[in-house]
Amino acid sequence: MTLSLLSLVCGCGPTAPEAHRVAAPPRTTVTVDDALVQFSLLASLAAGDYLDGPRLSELLAVGDFGIGTFHRLDGEMIVLDGHVYQASADGVIRQPSLDVTAPFAAVTFFDEDGRVENLAAHSLDLLDARINQSLPHRNLPYALRIDGEFSELTLRSVPAQNPPYEPLVDVVKQQVTWEHHNLRGTLVGLHCPGWIGNLNVTGYHWHFLSEDRQIGGHVLACQLKQGTLRYDACRSLVVRLPESDVFDRFDAQSIDQQDIDAIERQRERPSDSR
Ligand SMILES: [Zn+2]
Repeated sequence: MTLSLLSLVCGCGPTAPEAHRVAAPPRTTVTVDDALVQFSLLASLAAGDYLDGPRLSELLAVGDFGIGTFHRLDGEMIVLDGHVYQASADGVIRQPSLDVTAPFAAVTFFDEDGRVENLAAHSLDLLDARINQSLPHRNLPYALRIDGEFSELTLRSVPAQNPPYEPLVDVVKQQVTWEHHNLRGTLVGLHCPGWIGNLNVTGYHWHFLSEDRQIGGHVLACQLKQGTLRYDACRSLVVRLPESDVFDRFDAQSIDQQDIDAIERQRERPSDSR
């Protein structure tokens, strides 16, 4: 950057001294690569901004891996290997039309930066702690993928909402939960560092899709019997802001971070699921 600025200040005209020339022409644009691309803010979603957003086809143009939700909050989104899956509150997994919209989602092109084999954990908190030991950069967002065998999983989804739209903290009270045992599948997750604030979920946020693509949802609890973690550190964060009336009216000061944590970091302890 210093060299580029110097060359711009000094000029590249015929009178510029040879010694000031830089071999390669300076880049005049910032390249945004290895990006986590996020649509909307979690705080705006929490305030009830459940409508519209980009079409799924637009999501897939900027990522093949991620999580989110759908128009009217109609289920949990899992983006895996370039396909979008919708875990609906009726317990059915669908692959929706690519014209469906997503009021909140975060995706990236998953490029593996590292992996941990033979991972096991008796709870989601222990899994997170184990992963914390493995991720090399404390302050980068990560896309995380765990393919494995799960002895227990508690999943949730939420039903599509109708106006007037309630805040997310109230909608989550309508959540449907399921317990599953001895399933093979994939945890699709994000880890966002503390500086993310109320843009997204601080810490780990996991969705799940079974190997047979028949079961999925937002993960409330899990016991991982054995699996492989693959991680992708994201070097850029791109936030596409909503164009909605709710976003125009929303006051960031009015959002309670504890509400956000209660919504998306809600967890069951292993003993709770009995
Ligand atoms: Zn979720």
